[in-house]
Amino acid sequence: MKTVDEHLATVLAGIGPLSPLELTMLDAHGCVLAEDVTATHPLPPFDNSAMDGYAVRAADIATATASTPVTLPVVGDIAAGSVTPYSVQPGLCVRIMTGAPLPPGADTVVPQEWTDEGLAQVSIRAAASVGQHIRRAGEDVVPGTVVLTSGTHLGATQIGLIAAVGRDRVLARPRPRVVILSTGSELVDPGQPLTPGKIPDANSALLTAAAQEAGAIAYRVGIVPDDPRQLLDALEDQLIRADVVVTSGGVSVGAYDVVKDALGRLGTVAFDKVAMQPGMPQGFGRIGPDQTPFFGLPGNPVSAYVSFEVFVRPVLRRMLGVEPITRPTVRARLVEPVGSPPGKRTFARGWLSVEHGKYVVRPVGGSGSHLIASLSGANAFIVVPEDVTQLDAESTVDVMMLERRQR
Ligand code: AMP
Ligand code: MG
Repeated sequence: MKTVDEHLATVLAGIGPLSPLELTMLDAHGCVLAEDVTATHPLPPFDNSAMDGYAVRAADIATATASTPVTLPVVGDIAAGSVTPYSVQPGLCVRIMTGAPLPPGADTVVPQEWTDEGLAQVSIRAAASVGQHIRRAGEDVVPGTVVLTSGTHLGATQIGLIAAVGRDRVLARPRPRVVILSTGSELVDPGQPLTPGKIPDANSALLTAAAQEAGAIAYRVGIVPDDPRQLLDALEDQLIRADVVVTSGGVSVGAYDVVKDALGRLGTVAFDKVAMQPGMPQGFGRIGPDQTPFFGLPGNPVSAYVSFEVFVRPVLRRMLGVEPITRPTVRARLVEPVGSPPGKRTFARGWLSVEHGKYVVRPVGGSGSHLIASLSGANAFIVVPEDVTQLDAESTVDVMMLERRQR
């Protein structure tokens, strides 16, 4: 039997970040930037008002107080988006809106709250210092500045900055595309009526969602019956759009284990026993003209999901170019004992919470790998090392954190 670490090393061998592509700014969200983004114009692009108010010369209102307001004629209005035809001559002012360009001649902005908000003339009740409420051109970014460096993981605020410097596309590493197939003649598409002996295909939905959570573009192809010819045909159809192929089911030693039957013959996919619980049978190799990584995961939903988290997710993260590629592991106090078969690494479903500022983990549900309901009640896996057969209550244990969510 292979260890989990050996199998992980096998699947990661030769995997690197995908080659950069020109992506539209929103397609690049969640991806890793592969160029330096440089501002070609200043941010803000021009001097503009930070307030709705009046653009004036500070010297003209130096004596203004609440009891001795200064009244100035208003020569016009400047809205955001307009180009000013006005310049502010001594003794005059212009009504101005937030974001509108500061007219020539004005050196300060008086907020409308300090005035009587007059339209033809305005009475101003306070003096203002030069430069007040003016956002200067280039005070955020001067032209030529590298605002984002190659290698940056692009979140919402970085996407906003790309747009703010006027770019609509960037060079970035694309999300890996994952094709997901379920094998099994017992499977029925969710939403379709169940007939005797049939079960809904849970795995393709589960794995598609998990792949999306990992940052991939996931294509849920759905069900392929236990017929090697149909499986090979489906793979051939799908390879064109796949950076990774994931199937579930059909990798054990049963008579109709279709993935093993169909791909075992190619010689490029190995079917191994990995010393883990759940998820012992694992198929992995390369298929098709592009040597596309292929994962044949076991069919039980819990086994399929654990296998995805432990082996597939790191491959997808490495292709994305992000770190860490594995789920974060924390140390937590275990409240009930957890058993594990000798020589295997067990991933037991758990609920991780924080009590009095410390992590606490509680086992949830049974250990059967068909128990998808208890899987959905877990937010973590309690990891039992290979050389341990029992984790005692009150011991401190390793816990792999899954997607964060509230109960
Ligand atoms: P297999 O590895 O194909 O023998 O499948 C092992 C177990 O997992 C069987 O009980 C299958 O019915 C079940 N199973 C396989 N694929 C799926 C799936 N897509 N959704 C739900 N259960 C599945
Ligand atoms: Mg099967």
